[in-house]
Amino acid sequence: MRLSQYILPTQKEDPSDAQVSSHRLMIRAGLIRKEAAGMYAYLPAGLRALRKVTAIVKEEMDKAGAMECLMPELTSADLWKESGRWESMGPEMFRIRDRNSMEYALGPTHEEAFTALVRSVVSSYKDLPVNVYQINTKFRDEIRPRFGVIRSKEFIMKDAYSFDVDQNGLDLSYDKMASAYRAIFDRCGLETIPVQADSGTMGGSASEEFMVASEVGEETLLICRECGYSANQEKAGFKREDNVAGEVAELREVHTPNIKTIDDLAAFFKCEKKVFLKTIVFVADGEAVVAVVTGDRDINETKLKSFLGAAELEQADDKTVESVTGSAVGFAGPVNCDAKRIVFDYGVAQVQGAITGANKTDYHFAGVHPGRDFVISEEADIVEAIDGDLCPECGKPMITRKGIEVGHIFKLGKKYTESMKVNVLDNNGKAVVPLMGCYGIGVTRTLAAVIEQHHDEKGLIWPKAVAPFDVHLVGIGKSEGEKAAIDEVYTALLSDGLEVLYDDRKLSPGVKFADADLLGLPVRITCGKSYFQDGELEIKIRKTGEQLTVKPDVLAKKIREIIAGLDRE
Ligand code: ATP
Ligand code: MG
Repeated sequence: MRLSQYILPTQKEDPSDAQVSSHRLMIRAGLIRKEAAGMYAYLPAGLRALRKVTAIVKEEMDKAGAMECLMPELTSADLWKESGRWESMGPEMFRIRDRNSMEYALGPTHEEAFTALVRSVVSSYKDLPVNVYQINTKFRDEIRPRFGVIRSKEFIMKDAYSFDVDQNGLDLSYDKMASAYRAIFDRCGLETIPVQADSGTMGGSASEEFMVASEVGEETLLICRECGYSANQEKAGFKREDNVAGEVAELREVHTPNIKTIDDLAAFFKCEKKVFLKTIVFVADGEAVVAVVTGDRDINETKLKSFLGAAELEQADDKTVESVTGSAVGFAGPVNCDAKRIVFDYGVAQVQGAITGANKTDYHFAGVHPGRDFVISEEADIVEAIDGDLCPECGKPMITRKGIEVGHIFKLGKKYTESMKVNVLDNNGKAVVPLMGCYGIGVTRTLAAVIEQHHDEKGLIWPKAVAPFDVHLVGIGKSEGEKAAIDEVYTALLSDGLEVLYDDRKLSPGVKFADADLLGLPVRITCGKSYFQDGELEIKIRKTGEQLTVKPDVLAKKIREIIAGLDRE
């Protein structure tokens, strides 16, 4: 491709709205162009890279036995009503009407569409398993589109859905996808960390996210370097401290006028926060639920919601708190609490001689002993694990890292197949509901994540497999004869099967070199004075900065060697 006729609008300045490297560099290298907030156009070089990621995704999905389809992006409201998600999806789903007032959604995901497709084509266990996928545009009205194509309103996703007759089958389909994902990200040059993730209200089902460690990631991961345990903070467990001793004294009521927060209480009682029991009232699917955790911890609402199996969970308003506890906000506690449902974090039982609200305005209890002064009816992991907490598997301290989620695999079970009435006959002729798995990769986000992991202060450093071109040929010649000689080198490289971007523009070498560094193709070749004088071409490897000279007859071979070497690293 001749750069003089190519759309590659590189720019020196960083775009003002770019907070992260991939966004900044994709704009500066002329790969994408912002059309509006959360909407980007892919320009030719950006599209070439995107197509390479897409091709890798497709190859590995096909290899794993999944079948590619293409569903309409316009999805009928009837489909979403069947599963109940027309109501529950909320404002993230773009909804529109046609001229006859029929309602549609611009697909944010396609569980319903694929479930309906599979329902229409399977009738017996012999028709299963099937795994169907597509690579197409998804639409989500994100509250805060940001970071370029990492969180946009319109993005490309690979979404796959597996259907199996039993749990063994689902486990197998899921494992196949997990290995396909590893291969995909590996081939893209991405280092990912698979982490355990929240599986929502599906209770017990497995769910894994593929994270790219990055300071700009929106997810927090807990990682145990000792045994390899890793989980999203939404899900990460940890070992509670044993036998936390507070006041050993008998239960006593203490007047604590207007002292409500844990900080104020810790100062008043001169105690560590971990001996307090924080009691918070929630409303889960319309019912009040009380949660009790130790005072040094924050409740993790995702964990609580998942434990309760609730679709909706929010903190109760003051009025509800007062009616559940019989006291003003700030004085709730588990002793003499009449709430129908109280969930205790595992840490609560460890505190002996705790301090907690007395369910009486301006009073707390001290010397509270779980088991003696209140019954632990329901116990669960409902607080957030933090840096330094002990690994739930090996007990060693864990660290936290930020991560970008590039993929997510999930055992859905019967959620959609049941609500959408999918049945097949099993080998005894009995109707059974197939089990489903769903598997997503953010293709455009993956491309951005590759750039997050592969760049320096000068620009991009493409891993070979997803580089828009193999070679950046910089021509530095003025006379017609020199230009013709460079053209010959270009043509020879092309006929050798290499993908070449040829900078034939009438610009200074400095500008051309800066653009080559910015675009970051694996190999740069300079064809200039030393070629015209000594017949030698200069090679520069973008990743290492290493330079060497070669004769034209071995150029293509040398480039292939270099590229193969880069891939092996
Ligand atoms: P997030 O928590 O980041 O919003 P999600 O859990 O909503 O992601 P899924 O519904 O599992 O994402 O979608 C599958 C994949 O699609 C994600 O792993 C991610 O790579 C990608 N993705 C999701 N939302 C966006 C977006 N707004 N822009 C770009 N890619 C996205
Ligand atoms: Mg989302």
